[in-house]
Amino acid sequence: MNMEIENHIFSAKDKNTWRKLLEARREILFSSEEVLKKNVLTELSAAATGEISNIRLHSADLATESQELDILGTLSEKNLKGLHDVEDAMDRLEQGSFGQCVSCGGPIMEERMKAIPEAKYCVDCAKEFEKTRKEKLRGA
Ligand SMILES: [Zn+2]
Repeated sequence: MNMEIENHIFSAKDKNTWRKLLEARREILFSSEEVLKKNVLTELSAAATGEISNIRLHSADLATESQELDILGTLSEKNLKGLHDVEDAMDRLEQGSFGQCVSCGGPIMEERMKAIPEAKYCVDCAKEFEKTRKEKLRGA
């Protein structure tokens, strides 16, 4: 038996399972993106209706509204990034590097893959990235 194949944590049979997981993941992200868009539209139309019935709109109200829209914008960005990650993971699945950390090349734990099928970093690298990101934020 070829050790290289044996060492690889994903067999051909698993490939289909992971693809299904990734497709399900993509579906969730797509639908939450849709829900989000609908919410933004509802918010906007509510804000517009409010403007008509309450002509004297305080600047404080406007600030709150734009803050809410900011939050929705951030959420949407996160969804889009997630969708991008899922697409990347599908590519890696085809190329045979799925389940490998894109940073150190080490295997990503199966438990982690089940929780986040589009994960591209192993736990150690993810922690390292998070640490660097936080240090950068603190330094800025
Ligand atoms: Zn790694």
